[in-house]
Amino acid sequence: MLGCCSAAESYGLPVPQQAGLHVALEPNSSRLRSSTNASRHVPAGAEPGVHLHWRDRRVGHQRFRVGLVDALQQMVLCVGEEWSVAAIDAARMKTPGSEGHLDDAFYRMLVRFCAGASGDIAGLSVRGAESPLESIVRLRLQRMGLEPVIQLPIGKYRADIVIGDRLVIECDGTQHATAEQFVRDRDRDALFAARGYRVLRFTYAQVMQSWDSLVVPAILAALHGSGDLHGSGGFLHGSGRNRDFS
Ligand SMILES: [Zn+2]
Repeated sequence: MLGCCSAAESYGLPVPQQAGLHVALEPNSSRLRSSTNASRHVPAGAEPGVHLHWRDRRVGHQRFRVGLVDALQQMVLCVGEEWSVAAIDAARMKTPGSEGHLDDAFYRMLVRFCAGASGDIAGLSVRGAESPLESIVRLRLQRMGLEPVIQLPIGKYRADIVIGDRLVIECDGTQHATAEQFVRDRDRDALFAARGYRVLRFTYAQVMQSWDSLVVPAILAALHGSGDLHGSGGFLHGSGRNRDFS
């Protein structure tokens, strides 16, 4: 059955691009059939692009996929901090009762399940995150020693992320901007600037591909330029997705 990222995606949650197929197996499964030749048994893990998970509990399993809590726990163990927290954030933001919604009781269960082996990754989730990119940027800023505030109301809008008193960071996500969105973003930028905020706007590609070379220097320059150095002690300790924070 579908597990991990593949199950999470079926619940409408964000997963890494080209995540491959993540399959959940019964605890005692040790041999699989080839996906290209059903009569051929293959050793576990031998299929390229297929990630295997042996499940050890059942919370809300369905015929073709593991339950939501299990899928998210498998993501914590499989894809690491950023995408698992992005998926958990997104699940908590879904409409109550809708598919893929993680309510507070199940969130606490997930945190309990994840405690130990994976540190407290599930506990890094916050309620209110609006997009996976925002979740990823928030986590990286926290690792830099900064204290990002998400979805801060400024005038009629909510800024994606605010650092200190005067820096807004807007995350543009993966979707192609419509003309309407373009106009609304300019309106947001102008309103934030009028309230005295410096606005930095980053795309998905910039965050994922140019974090250390472009995004971090831009943020640090903006913080230094404004004389706002909250958490500056963290600047010296490096940053970026490859750092091991466990
Ligand atoms: Zn997986």
